[in-house]
Amino acid sequence: MQIATYELPPVGTNAYLLLPPNRAEAVLVDAPFGALKAISPQLKKANRRLAAVLLTHGHWDHIASAAECQAAGAAIYAHPDDREWIENPMMQADFMVPGLEIDPVRIDNFLQPRQILEIVGLSLEVRHVPGHAPGSVLFYDRVAKVAFVGDAIFAGSVGRTDLPGGDWEQLENSIRTQIYTLPGDTVLYPGHGPATTVAAERATNKFVRG
Ligand SMILES: [Zn+2]
Repeated sequence: MQIATYELPPVGTNAYLLLPPNRAEAVLVDAPFGALKAISPQLKKANRRLAAVLLTHGHWDHIASAAECQAAGAAIYAHPDDREWIENPMMQADFMVPGLEIDPVRIDNFLQPRQILEIVGLSLEVRHVPGHAPGSVLFYDRVAKVAFVGDAIFAGSVGRTDLPGGDWEQLENSIRTQIYTLPGDTVLYPGHGPATTVAAERATNKFVRG
């Protein structure tokens, strides 16, 4: 599977475009500002349609262009615990870069923990990883040995827990039971910053020891 990474403004949020082999579709993990515009050349080049947007959580910087993607035909997937933020993004105005407008998004498919999401030839395990946000999830591809972890964990760091619905003990528990239990060679693609691996974080992450 080909994975294209886009780091987008205004706070350097990663979007990941997944291009499974031999398909006419693609899947986007998270939809920061300008995501649809950013991925369009790649979609055109590969002659693919954007089938779905998988949201790792409902924070504004991860959902900003989800409505645009939906209007272009993509189905939106998210965990029900972040539903309010996604359907009414301006609830987050206090935590947003001032002056931004984000369109509401209708969730087409609610994600369930441990669900195996079969989508355009991919088989993604959904794991609930609350703590940074109540509806934080990760998407784990056992075959490709990759996981898209949103803001639960970063290379050498972890997600903040001071936003509404954040909880440090929950985050620590999510990382220990849902991330550190993945095979060590699993590549973690976070919502901000560079990719890392489960083994590297278990060995060196100072916030949650493996
Ligand atoms: Zn976040």
